[in-house]
Amino acid sequence: MRIVLLGAPGSGKGTQAQRLINRHQVPQISTGDLLRAAVAAGTALGLHAKAIMDAGKLVDDATMLGIIRERLSQPDCANGFILDGFPRTIPQADALAVLLAELGCPLEAVVLMQVDSEQLFRRLTGRRTCQACGAVFNVYTAPPSVPPPCAGRCETPALFQRPDDSEATIGKRLEVYDAQTRPLIEYYGARGLLARVDAEGHIDEVTARLEAALGGRP
Ligand code: AMP
Repeated sequence: MRIVLLGAPGSGKGTQAQRLINRHQVPQISTGDLLRAAVAAGTALGLHAKAIMDAGKLVDDATMLGIIRERLSQPDCANGFILDGFPRTIPQADALAVLLAELGCPLEAVVLMQVDSEQLFRRLTGRRTCQACGAVFNVYTAPPSVPPPCAGRCETPALFQRPDDSEATIGKRLEVYDAQTRPLIEYYGARGLLARVDAEGHIDEVTARLEAALGGRP
């Protein structure tokens, strides 16, 4: 399986990728997670990216290309991958096509996760992550009074809110999505790669629709 999950921030790309990786035995490649790890480690990349991410803007294409080139050349991508959060601009999509052609493994599908903007806002403001295990959930669907889903695994589930999920930054991120990432819908549609999935409703229903859209791809 070699796919891209495309969609606005909060459309559930990361959550659904987590579910697909177990079944399909391919890695999830989240450029947001890679950048957050660099920020946490205090690397040069992290220092470069932090202010840009906190402002809800996009890290430059050349930097992102370098990250994705290195990640896709790792052995665990030999059987495929699920790209989550990349590409986000037309130049990134062009460069990805060139890179995958070089590696001899073109994309099989791009799935657009469709969620209306009111829902997106609610999902983003309610999103919390467990510091210990990285599990992501939502205060609206799983309020803090309910033990988080990682309670059995993590000795000390400690929830935090991503700095860029503040109300002030969410508006900017959705604006950036509309201006820079939304054009990829037409881009991949024109190349016959686009599938659309209704990404609202229960998480299990969305997974079922996603699997159906992928048409039983191994
Ligand atoms: P995400 O976790 O996918 O929402 O990404 C968090 C932030 O990381 C984004 O708001 C951007 O600042 C940055 N980022 C992640 N992926 C990319 C990308 N492909 N191109 C540019 N910036 C990115």
